[in-house]
Amino acid sequence: SKLQAIRGMNDILPADIAYWQHLETTARQLFAEYGYQEMRVPMVEHTALFKRSIGELTDIVEKEMYAFEDALNGEHLSLRPENTAGVCRAVIEHNLTYEGGRRLWYAGPMFRHERPQRGRYRQFHQVGAEAIGFAGPDVDAELILMCARLWESLELPNIELQLNSLGNSDERARHRADLIAHLERHQDALDADAKRRLHANPLRVLDSKHPDVQAVAQAAPKLIDYLGEDSRAHFDGLQRLLKSRGVKFEINPRLVRGLDYYNLTVFEWISTAGDSPLTVCGGGRYDGLIELLGGKPTPACGFGLGVERVLDLLAQEKFEVIESPDVYVVHAGEGASAYALQVGEALRDAGFDVIVHAGEGSFKSQMKRADAAVARYAVVIGEDEVRAGEVTLKHLRGPDGEPVRGAEQRRFAVAQLVEALYGELGFDDDTHDHDH
Ligand code: ATP
Ligand code: MG
Repeated sequence: SKLQAIRGMNDILPADIAYWQHLETTARQLFAEYGYQEMRVPMVEHTALFKRSIGELTDIVEKEMYAFEDALNGEHLSLRPENTAGVCRAVIEHNLTYEGGRRLWYAGPMFRHERPQRGRYRQFHQVGAEAIGFAGPDVDAELILMCARLWESLELPNIELQLNSLGNSDERARHRADLIAHLERHQDALDADAKRRLHANPLRVLDSKHPDVQAVAQAAPKLIDYLGEDSRAHFDGLQRLLKSRGVKFEINPRLVRGLDYYNLTVFEWISTAGDSPLTVCGGGRYDGLIELLGGKPTPACGFGLGVERVLDLLAQEKFEVIESPDVYVVHAGEGASAYALQVGEALRDAGFDVIVHAGEGSFKSQMKRADAAVARYAVVIGEDEVRAGEVTLKHLRGPDGEPVRGAEQRRFAVAQLVEALYGELGFDDDTHDHDH
């Protein structure tokens, strides 16, 4: 039988790759603008890391983790469901905050065993940033501004910001008692998950996607009403900074996020472009996490965005990128294929993007390939050219990709060919930045 990809784990095909690269390039550029450095951590970590950081009584740890025992040595490992835990582990392990705060970013696949549907996959991708070692609301604002700038660079409209504050652990403890009392009064409307979490982790109940549970959550005591002076000041400070930059937001007292490690600021960016609202990015402050994982107490804040969900919105914007070579080398006859390789290398040395035809085929069928590749020029090599040490150049398309009709063919020596192409491609086309 035919082998197929694992359900919920997708191939990213060449037809779609331009979208991915566009987002990756835009994000990379953005992070550089804000002084964030890229960091890459493994896709597999000890299961204990995720259990401890994300929380035992969360959807991720209870139902979504690819946790397994390494058959070769019995270690308990998990595919990462998110990247903050791994980044913090690495920050501690390499003492990265030794000389002060660190601004970090990452991109890569995450794994959650969820029911696959649009915008929800088992292997999906996140781009995220973590500002580690900064306590004030200014970095919270910076992270949110980075997101806002990203939506702007990608020209994504209709993404709305929701904010909440989860306070500190004392404030959560006081809220928790009242929340439990409220949930107990509405036991009958709770599903099995909510009942189980009611006493151990009642805040999680507010995060439920079950409609009946959501109704109970709607009427529950709001954590935001329990904030003390410091937490209040942090939240107010963040709001002031966002207002000063003209960033619109809505305060959602039920926003708690699906992981245990958050405190103070939490936020989500929600797209209202489709039929139902979709969270494309979530983040917040996790001041206790590094200490919880065995490091020195270190405040931190970060966000993660779902690449597939952002790309889905980009696709609605009819984003288009044409990737085409400058030159397609067509060749046939005695000695032509070796000569074609040589010409291809010489053109690449000079900075051009070149496809050298591979395999057999008549000149006519090869020219069809050149056309399909949307090449600007064809370089034609037959036995004549091989003998003369020259090539024939044919102009196929203009800078806009439109076919050029009736262009004459010209013969050049290879050195002249490079000069001729510089003249044509290097100077008449802004989209090329060849090194002259
Ligand atoms: P949701 O409530 O939609 O399950 P979440 O709270 O579990 O989201 P986070 O852990 O905050 O999600 O992850 C950050 C972002 O990663 C989400 O906002 C979303 O865009 C994306 N994301 C999360 N899970 C998936 C998934 N299974 N498939 C695709 N994208 C996902
Ligand atoms: Mg989820």
